[in-house]
Amino acid sequence: MEGERVVVIGGGIIGTTTAFMLKYQNPNLKVLLLDRSPDVAQDCSHQNGGVLTYSFHHPWTRLQFLWTGFKGMFSSESCSSISNKAFWNFNFWVWNTRFLFSSLFQNYNQKEHDIHLFGKRSYLLHESIRKDLSKSHKEDLDSYLGKDDGLLDVMTTVKSFQSLKKWGLELNHNHEERVRVHSTRQTCAEGEPNLKDWRGEIVGCIKNELETQCAFDSYSMTKAFANISAKLGVEILYNAEVTEFKKEGNKVTALALSDGKIIVADKFVICSGVHSRELGEKLGWAIPVWPAKGYSFNIKTNRQLKTSIHYGGSNPFYLCPVKQGIRYSGIVEFTTIDDKEMDPKKVEYMQRTLRDMSGWTDLKFENNWVCLRPVSSDDMPIIGKFPKLDNVFVNTGHGSRGCIFAFSSAELLSQLVQGKVPITDPRPYSPSRFYL
Ligand SMILES: Cc1cc2nc3c(=O)[nH]c(=O)nc-3n(C[C@H](O)[C@H](O)[C@H](O)COP(=O)(O)OP(=O)(O)OC[C@H]3O[C@@H](n4cnc5c(N)ncnc54)[C@H](O)[C@@H]3O)c2cc1C
Repeated sequence: MEGERVVVIGGGIIGTTTAFMLKYQNPNLKVLLLDRSPDVAQDCSHQNGGVLTYSFHHPWTRLQFLWTGFKGMFSSESCSSISNKAFWNFNFWVWNTRFLFSSLFQNYNQKEHDIHLFGKRSYLLHESIRKDLSKSHKEDLDSYLGKDDGLLDVMTTVKSFQSLKKWGLELNHNHEERVRVHSTRQTCAEGEPNLKDWRGEIVGCIKNELETQCAFDSYSMTKAFANISAKLGVEILYNAEVTEFKKEGNKVTALALSDGKIIVADKFVICSGVHSRELGEKLGWAIPVWPAKGYSFNIKTNRQLKTSIHYGGSNPFYLCPVKQGIRYSGIVEFTTIDDKEMDPKKVEYMQRTLRDMSGWTDLKFENNWVCLRPVSSDDMPIIGKFPKLDNVFVNTGHGSRGCIFAFSSAELLSQLVQGKVPITDPRPYSPSRFYL
């Protein structure tokens, strides 16, 4: 293992934190991070929702979610939908059949707990890395966090509030969290004063008092960890698109870039977001990730948010106070990998929704951005060894939680690459769950 060369393919948040963690945990490794773009985080990690908290995340594998997606096909005014392009794509239906299977037969509660534990491990690791590197890499570490006091999860119907309340109390009981429940608009507004004159429905909200930081900017965070990695000795190569692999028996010996350059290494890690599927296909396994398009905006307003907000309801969205303004994000549209078009109807719908719900009149939307989340067919990350190959690994499929899971994923992957016993139970994330 000493002095081995590991190549990480993809400079989004997942590839960058993976390269960082490999070098951070084992300075003797020679780590090379490749991306086909001229900079890191030019795809999904460029401008996401800005949520870094771990408490209130639920798997998408629910029948209700699938049903909303089907209904959304016939309306541009839906938070979740399937595009025409995906509808006519055979591979989408193969992926979707697995998603349906997972929604019907997998233990939803167990998944919710795994998501919580994995997110919390990531949050704590991130805190300890920041502390450890606070002196040597202060400028980079100061560049990406927003200013807030954690996340307030707001519900608009009695039924959704009751189930959220139950989940919050379970977190207190099973995971020693400190979730506080506010069951009136007035008490929610004590947590976030802007909710006092909010126009939309508010039945109640919850907040984990242990989480005192939520908002962040995903490009700045990825860039910060690329800079830190480079200072630790990770080599970074931009404009480097991987097109082919060279195999000998059960091993990959080299990869080829689009400019003809050949890169030889001992181990290879695929962290290429929605493109992981096509890279996997070249090695004999189409990694089951599918693109789910989402939208984000920076809002200029005179209002200051004290907390970040998740607002439930028929079109759920997030508001997070990042350095560029208030980050506003939402919408899930299952589509194809070549579809990065911004649909003006969806943009108009999202902007109108926020104006109607908030009642804020001074909103100016900037930096409209669309990108593709890499969603696995059971909505859990895929981390571990590539089937039938001894020296290829995968870290992908993080869906809507790439930054939330970045550090626990990188830690797990790095320990597996080094042949160490991982701290996190690898089974819920293992690629082997998709094949026999
Ligand atoms: C609207 C929206 C809001 C979101 N909000 C949040 C949030 O609040 N919190 C959160 O944690 N997550 C959020 N997410 C999800 C999160 O952004 C993703 O999970 C995460 O960015 C995925 O990171 P990645 O590194 O796997 O993929 P990417 O960021 O897409 O990176 C993959 C990289 O691989 C490179 N690549 C691809 N193919 C090749 C090749 N052949 N050769 C070389 N390089 C290649 C690409 O150039 C790219 O840089 C959100 C997503 C969306 C769409």
